[in-house]
Amino acid sequence: MWGGPALTLALIALWVASGWWSVGWTSRNGVFFGAGVGLIAFGISFRSPTPIDRIGFSTFEHSQYTLFWWDPLFGNPDPQEAVTLIPLWIPTLCVFTVTTIAWRLNILARQRERIARLNLCPACGYCRAGISGDAKCPECGETHLST
Ligand SMILES: [Zn+2]
Repeated sequence: MWGGPALTLALIALWVASGWWSVGWTSRNGVFFGAGVGLIAFGISFRSPTPIDRIGFSTFEHSQYTLFWWDPLFGNPDPQEAVTLIPLWIPTLCVFTVTTIAWRLNILARQRERIARLNLCPACGYCRAGISGDAKCPECGETHLST
């Protein structure tokens, strides 16, 4: 229930923070994974191999806040790297959308459950206690009952 919002907030925080910071992991055979400047990056570098496995946490070369909204290498790839760059707002938006839909469905299910439990009119919410199930709602005239 709270995993979706927590993940959404974490992704938004990572996205915003990635404008200042980058974090990455590079293996000795050049495979790397990281995040920074609004992007998630993974791929393999053909530059001189890194001597050891390492985890890097560093500022980028830029001195001011930078967020790329789209792959800055698109159509102009770096010949020394095979890299896939995914803007962080894409997974953030996906998680946010799925979370919002899940919450919406959950709220609707709770409302339906409450209407059935309290014997309310599904159209107007009038309390139908003491009214037979097939009778019209005295408040709004609704006859299509969910029961
Ligand atoms: Zn009604």
